[in-house]
Amino acid sequence: MPANKKLLMLPGDGIGPEVMREVSHILEWLDRRRIASFDIGQGLVGGASIDATGLPITPDVVDRAKNSDAVLFGAVGGPKWDKMGFDLRPEIAILTLRRELGLFANLRPATVLDPLIEASTLKPDIVRGLDIMIVREATGGIYFGEPRGIETLPDGQKRGINTEVYTTSEIERVARVAFDLARQRQGRVCSVEKANVMESGLLWRQTVTALGAAEYPDVALSHMYADNCAMQLVRNPRQFDVIVTGNLFGDLLSDLASMCTGSLGMLPSATLGAPDSSGRRLSLYEPIHGSAPDIAGQGIANPLAQTFSLAMLLRYSFDMKEEAALVEQACLAVLEQGLRTADIMQEGKTRVTTMEMGAAVMRELERLAA
Ligand code: NAD
Repeated sequence: MPANKKLLMLPGDGIGPEVMREVSHILEWLDRRRIASFDIGQGLVGGASIDATGLPITPDVVDRAKNSDAVLFGAVGGPKWDKMGFDLRPEIAILTLRRELGLFANLRPATVLDPLIEASTLKPDIVRGLDIMIVREATGGIYFGEPRGIETLPDGQKRGINTEVYTTSEIERVARVAFDLARQRQGRVCSVEKANVMESGLLWRQTVTALGAAEYPDVALSHMYADNCAMQLVRNPRQFDVIVTGNLFGDLLSDLASMCTGSLGMLPSATLGAPDSSGRRLSLYEPIHGSAPDIAGQGIANPLAQTFSLAMLLRYSFDMKEEAALVEQACLAVLEQGLRTADIMQEGKTRVTTMEMGAAVMRELERLAA
């Protein structure tokens, strides 16, 4: 059996701990079957950490995250902590982890599973078999660029300023993530910016083109303006394999792509840092949904986004491609059997709780691995 893999689980608030519990059964199963051995730590983040320590995340948890091979994050936040000052809000936990771990590449898959094809607001013919990976630069661009702020002009008006800034090294490192992913997928990258009206977009296009030609001649590279990409994502989303883009456009386009799939409770994400000299990369995996305070404590949350987040973790951090595929197949099989949590319930299907969905995934794992 391979050596212990260090994993830090940070369940957080609301439905975070509920969906994380189901995922921990899968890790125990992998351990029990001697497929992989995990050295699993747990920590508090978000409101749970504020209640215990006064801080959304403590330096100790940040250090443990830095010393882990991967972090599996649940969700944070809730009305109890909504009145906290901005620096003490539960959501600061995730921003702190991204900053301290240098997690610059946000990976958001948008995949349409056949049993849930009706959940999309787009026609089935448009989204059947959809499988896109959006790679969004997550620590640069206009959300962080200087100068920024609101200033008062001599005539008394106010002016709000944000600055889109990218350096070649920032563009290259996120483009490398996209090219590497494309090699494991269909071998196509579409780089998205506004090179027609923004100098930072022009540099983005030139840098990605040069990198592609120098290091990834085997990957088919295309370019698209962000506004056209938004239109193409609803017109013909299957034309895309990997999309790479900056922070602002990625924020919008990844939400748009996720709605092609129809359900928030189904979608995972990953955020990756740069590899060190040994090839080890800090990384964090989390569902795209939040802590869902409206359904927390009722045992009805959909655990599949957290489960797909674990599959991404196995694939990208632990190089366990077969096990990742096994977990994904188990989820698909459960959906094919007609089991649905409330958020994805359809007529004629069987409504199940969080725990029942988790147990069904475990049964399928046993069957598929038999
Ligand atoms: P949300 O994603 O928590 O919920 C939106 C809607 O989707 C709700 O109706 C919820 O019940 C439903 N939903 C979400 N996940 C579900 C699941 N797994 N199963 C079934 N239904 C699900 O977004 P929100 O309501 O805007 O935010 C709630 C709290 O979560 C806020 O405090 C927000 O700041 C926080 N939040 C945290 C993260 C994070 O931790 N990364 C991300 C987004 C929002």
